[in-house]
Amino acid sequence: AHLDRIEGVDEQVGAYLHVAGESALAEARAVDERRAKGETLHRLAGVPIAVKDVMTTTGIPTTAGSRILEGWIPPYDSTVVTRLKAAGLPILGKTNMDEFAMGSSTEHSAYGLTRNPWDLERIPGGSGGGSSAVVASWQAPLATGTDTGGSIRQPAAVTGSVGVKPTYGGVSRYGLIAMASSLDQAGPCARTVLDTALLHEVMAGHDPLDSTSIDQPVPDVVGAARRADVTGMRIGIVKELTGEGFSPLVQARFDESVQHLVDAGAEVVEVSCPNFVHALGAYYLIMPSEASSNLARFDAMRYGLRVSPQGVEDPSAEQVMAASRDAGFGDEVKRRIILGTYALSSGYYDAYYGSAQKVRRLIADDFAKAFEIADVLVSPTAPTTAFRFGDKTDDPMAMYRGDIATIPANLAGVPGMSLPSGLAEDGLPAGFQVLAPAMADDRLYTVGAALE
Ligand code: GLN
Repeated sequence: AHLDRIEGVDEQVGAYLHVAGESALAEARAVDERRAKGETLHRLAGVPIAVKDVMTTTGIPTTAGSRILEGWIPPYDSTVVTRLKAAGLPILGKTNMDEFAMGSSTEHSAYGLTRNPWDLERIPGGSGGGSSAVVASWQAPLATGTDTGGSIRQPAAVTGSVGVKPTYGGVSRYGLIAMASSLDQAGPCARTVLDTALLHEVMAGHDPLDSTSIDQPVPDVVGAARRADVTGMRIGIVKELTGEGFSPLVQARFDESVQHLVDAGAEVVEVSCPNFVHALGAYYLIMPSEASSNLARFDAMRYGLRVSPQGVEDPSAEQVMAASRDAGFGDEVKRRIILGTYALSSGYYDAYYGSAQKVRRLIADDFAKAFEIADVLVSPTAPTTAFRFGDKTDDPMAMYRGDIATIPANLAGVPGMSLPSGLAEDGLPAGFQVLAPAMADDRLYTVGAALE
């Protein structure tokens, strides 16, 4: 049924980069046979899933939305994919994304636009716009994402779906094509809070192949989603993430959702996180710094594209590398590599990268103080509903400013969820964000399920 749906609508939506129909059907049939034999299977066995193209998959091309990886077929599975396969979830295909997960609209993909199923002239969010769009257009019931600064939560917000960035270290990064290693975190996307919890449970847990993976039991996210009880819970509204800078259309739905929580027995408090105003500046130094280092591996020798420089006889390795990078990386990727290498260069390191790291600490301290007076924090996920294609492509700063509400969680490593808070007056979905302390991911699901 899902393959038929893909056939029917993806020409318009453009969410899949690759559809693995045959292997998905084979896996579905294998699950059926095992079930017929009376084997006890995982409760999601046989439920198909779409995988963001930043996760390696053996036998299926993996591009991270970049020309530089065109045609690359990974020789190994990412841990997330290994776990999906072990639980028996057939992989429908790979979803479109901004190149190397850099962006908020999926317009930076080297492979074309993905459209928002609610309005085909608008963006599906980014970088995981393919994953949010497949879920919102019923081309997959579940999808995976990665969130370095909001790439799971903001696409969920603008497509009326649910997306979770788990606690940093909660889901293995092994086999995720790295953007900024200290911020990258994989997580689940789905249409309901409970579906998201079920997928979260499959993806999460300690992995010795990732040195920052947390060796602790996964919080009981499924139980929390089932109980959905917010009685007596203290909900903190972050002063710096509401009001000014947020569209009144989004704000109106946010206020209503907060009222629902009060009606369900929660207590509302206002909290202040004064250093959040510096989060964007710190993120857009730390992220490009780490990205410039991570992307150095694309040297045209080991993977993907290799271009010979025009008119050069016997080119050196450096010349091939330069020509390949010039042809293989898009403008946004080049912009971030330049910013990152500049921020890390000697003489500027302390002023830029060093200061950004200090701000990062202050933001983590803000969270710690806020969580003394509130069990969870809430805000709109994004300042506006889905914008039109081209609205922000000429102005990188305008695109970056849209990340204001999602970035603090990545800098501090805390978990966050975006879930629908209804349709705004413009007829487009608005997102509601919930943030919890590290390793208290279950609280996101308690609040999310209470709002559903
Ligand atoms: N929009 C943010 C950026 O461009 C976040 C991206 C992400 O989470 N991968 O960096």
